[in-house]
Amino acid sequence: MTYRGRFAPSPTGQLHFGSLVAAVGSWLCARHAGGQWLVRVEDIDPPREVPGAAAGILATLAAFGLVADEPPLFQSTRLAAYDAAFEQLRAAGRVFPCSCSRSELAAGGGIHRDGQCLAAAHADRVPAWRLRVPDVEVTFDDALQGPQHENLRETVGDFVIRRADGFYSYQLACVVDDAFQQITEVVRGQDLLESTARQIWLRGCLGLPAVRYRHLPLVLDAQGNKLSKTAHAWPIDPAEPTPALRRALAFLRQPLPDTVIGVGGLLAHALAGFDPAVMPHCSGNSVA
Ligand code: GLU
Repeated sequence: MTYRGRFAPSPTGQLHFGSLVAAVGSWLCARHAGGQWLVRVEDIDPPREVPGAAAGILATLAAFGLVADEPPLFQSTRLAAYDAAFEQLRAAGRVFPCSCSRSELAAGGGIHRDGQCLAAAHADRVPAWRLRVPDVEVTFDDALQGPQHENLRETVGDFVIRRADGFYSYQLACVVDDAFQQITEVVRGQDLLESTARQIWLRGCLGLPAVRYRHLPLVLDAQGNKLSKTAHAWPIDPAEPTPALRRALAFLRQPLPDTVIGVGGLLAHALAGFDPAVMPHCSGNSVA
């Protein structure tokens, strides 16, 4: 099967250095495997979206020479597919409507583990829909972080797949679209490692094919905090992409040429010497 990888930004802000590392890492893995690299805009959460961010992210990727093999997939165009997946889960009795408030959930440490709503009396509240999570261990072998195991009932419990405001959760949309786009390996930041067991379980419930995972370490700022879009962290300059690309490749411990060359040359040089085995495992500071 052909390798298919993807970069899946949420348009909640401009691309920052941490997301550039994820984009470059997923691009290198896909190109190294002789496969395809896709971009998916995860615009399924309008309240958190920043106007113009999607176009800005796509323009920035282009400025960095990260060219996808297919037009970008916008999740906002995929609602019918999420409806169908939701109906499949509902028909199989795997989901239940839940109107529990935060305070009602607080009794269980904020975790819902009962497979049914405890607040059946709130007929006036629009419910969220939760997936029933049994007491089983989900295990997987991350290509970079090694063997992982998680008992979802302990960590997250019955988790929301459709919110009370009607929007589908990131977990559902991600799983449906990784299958739709025939992704074979997900390369993304380590902050999403904690979503992986949920996605594997949900994928199984929907009967969708498995994918491999490679979670890249996070770039931390000088205080040891994760760079995040909302923290205005290290904006990258599409007008002058070379320094940030050099730094992203250095963070991924990939070869850099001594000569001064543009983004196309830098990517070609990195790809020629690319070795996924030398990518770092642990999050850390970026060495410029
Ligand atoms: N849209 C998610 C984010 O920007 C990433 C999703 C993924 O790579 O699975 O954090």
